[in-house]
Amino acid sequence: MLRDWKSPCENIPVLHTQTVSKRRSTLLEKSNADVRVLVQPFPCCRACLLLVFRHGRHFDDPVRFEEISMKALVYEGPRKVVVKEMPDAKVERPTDVLVKITTTNICGSDLHMYEGRTDMETGRILGHENLGIVVEVGAGVERIKVGDRVCLPFNIGCGFCKNCERGLTGFCLTANPGMAGAAYGFAGMGPYSGGQAEYLRVPFGDFNCLVLPPDAEEKENDYVMLSDIFPTGYHATVLAGVEPGDSVVIYGAGPVGLMAALSASIKGASKVMVVDSHPDRLKLAEKIGAIPVNDSDGSSAEQILEMTGGEGADRGCECVGYQCSCKGHEVPNLTMNNLIKAVRPTGGIGVVGVFVAEDPQAEDKLAKKGQLALDFGQLWMKGQHIATGQANVKAYNRKLRDLIAAGKARPSQIISHELPLDKAAQGYKHFDEREEGWTKVVLKPAA
Ligand code: NAD
Ligand code: ZN
Repeated sequence: MLRDWKSPCENIPVLHTQTVSKRRSTLLEKSNADVRVLVQPFPCCRACLLLVFRHGRHFDDPVRFEEISMKALVYEGPRKVVVKEMPDAKVERPTDVLVKITTTNICGSDLHMYEGRTDMETGRILGHENLGIVVEVGAGVERIKVGDRVCLPFNIGCGFCKNCERGLTGFCLTANPGMAGAAYGFAGMGPYSGGQAEYLRVPFGDFNCLVLPPDAEEKENDYVMLSDIFPTGYHATVLAGVEPGDSVVIYGAGPVGLMAALSASIKGASKVMVVDSHPDRLKLAEKIGAIPVNDSDGSSAEQILEMTGGEGADRGCECVGYQCSCKGHEVPNLTMNNLIKAVRPTGGIGVVGVFVAEDPQAEDKLAKKGQLALDFGQLWMKGQHIATGQANVKAYNRKLRDLIAAGKARPSQIISHELPLDKAAQGYKHFDEREEGWTKVVLKPAA
């Protein structure tokens, strides 16, 4: 394979080919833009000079590829993320797949870590909403091939544990021993690096990679939403029990809430109402076909009751989580108690917004211990049911992919900003401040 590769260097192709790994050689066949890791003692020809010029660096001593780094976004402490050189991702186990990331999103879940509201370790690479091209596969990988365009579920599943077998891949018992559930670049979900980087190691590659159809490149911004928010929004409607004809209220018009609205429509809801206090996000909800409900004055539950003839919505989705707020102050039980109020007796409530077992930095005494003052009496009297948890992305991503391919779902419509990886820190800042117009940020490490 290496012998077939034509070095861009005119003088010393042998030196180059000796030091470029199999993975890189595959890339080199495709594009000279990936030659940044080329090892060379000096710029010996026009092609080498061009490489040095393009990548702003040159290696003085021949080093092996394994020692070379990649660019990645690293968490360095509360509200401090930096793009820097990190050890290259690589195949570590025979079942691994290595993906060159072409799109990776910033998620509302990243913000809990960004704000220092989790026990995320400093020095780790963030990013769990990833899509890219397979550049290397381990010896034990059978299905996935180099060159496949794949989208990766944010949860890492083994495929063979008790939970994965039942489709509950968000609660895999193998990938993060001692805990149920693993994810890329996520606090408390295993040691896995995130994909806000040039490359990502994907464990149990055959199981976790969703191969994309021929229009993958053209619809990349749609397909990348299959990594998390589209299946998560869909999961909220499944947990709530949405059926055709139901009225549905969704708390949160962030990316997840908007995807829950899209999913509720796909499932045939008769009326979808989305609650938030950000006009730009509510406008997107309207664009998706939902009724926007502005909660700036805290009257959302009353508004929902009014819109449903005093009965309440058939189903409710919580897409905000433990940092839900009212007029700038966190009130952790607010959305849950509003949902209990706004959903009809015997209705269902699906909770995908993240709630944590401990939140030492919370203002609220109970929330510090991961507890909520829930209107449990109301809930019981109304005979409602609540279902919660991480989305089992793999349970839905294939079918949702096919809706995108068929032109029946276009989740990319919520994207507001497309940035190169180098600008990721700015993306985090604006998205974290819920700045007007910053509704979903996608990063393009290969741009
Ligand atoms: P986001 O922070 O961008 O959006 C949250 C939205 O909720 C914001 O628009 C905010 O204005 C709104 N909000 C805040 N307080 C509110 C209140 N009291 N009433 C109504 N709306 C309120 O985040 P996102 O990316 O949309 O994610 C939402 C939640 O889903 C987060 O907690 C995230 O961690 C979680 N999440 C869960 C899963 C899962 O698998 N369960 C997956 C992805 C994200
Ligand atoms: Zn996410």
